[in-house]
Amino acid sequence: MIYLDNQATTPLAPEAKEAMLRWLSGPEAMGFANPHSAHPAGRAAMAAIEVAREQVAALLPPGGRVIFTSGATEAINQAILSVPRSGIAFSAIEHSAVIEAARASGAPLQELPVDAAGLVDPEVQFAEDIGLVSVMQVNNEIGTIQPVARLAERAHAHGALFLCDAVQGAGKLAPPEGADLIAVTAHKLYGPKGIGALWVRDGVEIGPFMHGGGQEGGLRSGTLSPALCAGFGAAAALAKARMETDFQHLQGLAAAARTALAGWTLNGSEVSRWPGNLNLRLDGLDVPRLMSDLRGIYFSAGSACGSGTGKPSRVLKAIGLADRAAKSSVRLGFGRYTTIQEVEDACARIAAAAVAQGE
Ligand code: PLP
Repeated sequence: MIYLDNQATTPLAPEAKEAMLRWLSGPEAMGFANPHSAHPAGRAAMAAIEVAREQVAALLPPGGRVIFTSGATEAINQAILSVPRSGIAFSAIEHSAVIEAARASGAPLQELPVDAAGLVDPEVQFAEDIGLVSVMQVNNEIGTIQPVARLAERAHAHGALFLCDAVQGAGKLAPPEGADLIAVTAHKLYGPKGIGALWVRDGVEIGPFMHGGGQEGGLRSGTLSPALCAGFGAAAALAKARMETDFQHLQGLAAAARTALAGWTLNGSEVSRWPGNLNLRLDGLDVPRLMSDLRGIYFSAGSACGSGTGKPSRVLKAIGLADRAAKSSVRLGFGRYTTIQEVEDACARIAAAAVAQGE
């Protein structure tokens, strides 16, 4: 098996798994204690959560606080639904979490188009009533890096807050500059599934989202999982320490894949992109057939949540691709644990299977 679906999720880093084990252990070690209990076992669990919070905060800008959530979908919903604002503007290639939460808010909406390279124009005009602008750092389907610093500056000049979905960039790139709210998730940076965070800039007012026992400063009620927090924290610390090494590794993998699939066309910007993602198309390619021919290679035709719908990707349509071109595209997602040998083998088999389709 060769795993090339690292935008859907990443494998758990051994270091993150190790950090989780104590909090999953049996009754003797007291790792199961409720971190909100006042006894020593509860306080030890809370101390581990606070260490994890610092480790996650180290991936994000200074001058804000980290609220743990169940993942980025919850963090985004909290940001969009519990921050006082009027209209919401978002890029046409945002994750469904942003688009659906914005729709559910009942607020006036403005969709910001992207160009053929998959980039939002940093000088785009926001509608008068816009009070929240949401643009992601790195796109999950085509890997483009958005001009978020400038967009945040312009949102502020407009009197709006800026939300950045940094799910695909966190732990891999420097944090988005200028954002007021940032959503991240552990499972895209080699941490466990089921935990994420909303970062809130100091001074930004946000209301409670989950109502209950008042955990997380009253903003997100519910018992935190020390194991998930510790795994997230360890994964974040590792990602920070390895950021440059991981980036260079991914650049090498992307270059090898581009060489092996030289006749294929890249979807999205050649330059403003994160190297862990390659979204490539080949005229006339039958992607479902390719996937069934190559069962041992785990890659995708777009986002995991959009797969299985049979519909062309809305991200590829937003960059101007016709349905046919969008449907003849594949997403190859590389990660820290992908080897060059795996990329070379997978690409050679993908190229051969594509040639065989034409025969
Ligand atoms: N935003 C982006 C860009 C994503 O890729 C994902 C994951 O699919 C999410 C948000 C949602 O994250 P989570 O799975 O933690 O809810």
